[in-house]
Amino acid sequence: MPRPSFPKTLRQFQSDFSTEEACQQYLAVCRWPDGFTCPRCGHGKAYELVNQRRYQCCKCRYQVSLTAGTILHRTKIPLTHWFWAAYLMTTDKRGVSALFLQRQLGLTCYETAWMMLHKLRRAMVNVAREPLRGEVEVDDTWIGGEQAGLRGSRQLKQRRAALVLVAVEKRGQASGRVRMSVIPDFKAVTIMSFLTRHVATGSTIYTDGLKSFSGLLEAGFKHVVRIQPLRSELRKGAKSAVPLADRAIGNLQQWLIGTYHGVGRNHLQVYLDEFVFRRNRRKTPPAAFQTLLGLGTTRTATVYEQIRGARDLNPNPLGLAEAIR
Ligand SMILES: [Zn+2]
Repeated sequence: MPRPSFPKTLRQFQSDFSTEEACQQYLAVCRWPDGFTCPRCGHGKAYELVNQRRYQCCKCRYQVSLTAGTILHRTKIPLTHWFWAAYLMTTDKRGVSALFLQRQLGLTCYETAWMMLHKLRRAMVNVAREPLRGEVEVDDTWIGGEQAGLRGSRQLKQRRAALVLVAVEKRGQASGRVRMSVIPDFKAVTIMSFLTRHVATGSTIYTDGLKSFSGLLEAGFKHVVRIQPLRSELRKGAKSAVPLADRAIGNLQQWLIGTYHGVGRNHLQVYLDEFVFRRNRRKTPPAAFQTLLGLGTTRTATVYEQIRGARDLNPNPLGLAEAIR
């Protein structure tokens, strides 16, 4: 889809999208890059019904909603607010907290800002995305809930820390695209389900010697196992078995601590998606902005009730307190 021009600076953004009309025109350009075409009669001219966020065909009077199929559909919040929030989320590497957004938009209600951010985060998972391919490093890490004296699988039983699996494409020395997922356990079947979902068969997978990474050959992957040096050796400069995955995990942990001061287990997957989304699209902010607002896709909005307890992520929520405030 040809993309309408996109402001490069914050100041430019604010002046380009300062009114409801301007935002609606942007939606219209995204929908009809070559100009309006009536879906019913094919006529090329329409009236703008700004208050209803619709275009009406001049000939047959058919009305098209500008927000249908986007996460903005039926929202009572001004489009200027949504645009501003999506812009901050795509361009600010540190990510955006609800409190920060509330202040930026001058909202009286914290819940509104919180809900907007979560709707945008839900839009970050592009279901049709291409699997990673080529050479891919895979590693696991614990996130949050550090518990003294508990190591490895014993942490799982206490269910405070979350186990996360990370896959990074190798592009020579550099990293390509990334996938991250909260997983319930270390079992081979769990790891295989992650890999078949996120990595194309025929790819070469690099892992350290963790035993759950067995069975990759049978699943159609090439598998290169390297023994990970001890932590003390790594500190002295020994080369990691999976350096790109290690770096991605380090960046993730820094970001989670720096921006959100720790994230509850219930919501962790959503934050992983945010991290991965921004990272994979760091070179194409306009595309990221459009994806966030659901433009050019048929994403339906997540209803507030589901977001509140992350119910759409956890069918059986553990009732753990979330710590994103
Ligand atoms: Zn028409």
